[in-house]
Amino acid sequence: MPKGAGIIERSLVQDDHILEHENLVMDGIDVSGRWNTMLKSRVHADRDLDAWDTVRQNLVATSIDNCIQCGMCTAGCTVAHEVEGFNPRQFIYWVRTGRTEELKNQADVVWRCVGCYICTHHCPKEVNTAEVIETIGQWLRTVVPERMDRAFHVNHQVYRNHLISRGRLNLPLLQTTFLRALGRQNELFAPEMKKTALKMVGDGRVLKTLRMGRPHRWRKNRQVLGSEA
Ligand code: SF4
Ligand code: SF4
Repeated sequence: MPKGAGIIERSLVQDDHILEHENLVMDGIDVSGRWNTMLKSRVHADRDLDAWDTVRQNLVATSIDNCIQCGMCTAGCTVAHEVEGFNPRQFIYWVRTGRTEELKNQADVVWRCVGCYICTHHCPKEVNTAEVIETIGQWLRTVVPERMDRAFHVNHQVYRNHLISRGRLNLPLLQTTFLRALGRQNELFAPEMKKTALKMVGDGRVLKTLRMGRPHRWRKNRQVLGSEA
């Protein structure tokens, strides 16, 4: 039987927090395996509260102090159901309790947030959860830049160049450039991608985007954005 198999919600418990002897006899009674399973104490002596201060100071909207750890944000999150380890409630818990090592270990996962703001709308305590996750991501970028997903960096660069050169988002072109930059152009021919492309051609979005051209006086505005980016 795998280690900790009898624990409810086993996936939420880290391996090294489970104490379990495969073979153990105590006072003549066989308590091998799950019968002697214990969990390590969750007391943390070395809390790093700098991260907490930084995140709080950088929030522009509602404070994360209101968070009651209800998990509504994670339950409704677009990414949590798709990406293993992506859990907004847990990210807030870690930063709040100074467990920054856990947070750093998930640095490349935190950046998978797509900024859809569903979590913010679900929060019963009016925490702007999306902004909190973004701020945690920004903090991670400064402390563990080497852990950031390469796709994130490429995406950031491609997005920035695209916006500055065109002034508008051309999603098909953006996606194509992004995948080519990562050497993943094969994905452009995946069935889902073809389906989306055909739909966009069919409902006129592609034509509309092509016709839009650049925004009024874009050349001038571009200089401002370019120098600040
Ligand atoms: S929904 Fe709001 S209160 Fe609940 S865990 Fe998420 S941020 Fe905290
Ligand atoms: S903004 Fe990010 S954390 Fe919030 S629901 Fe969307 S993907 Fe999840």
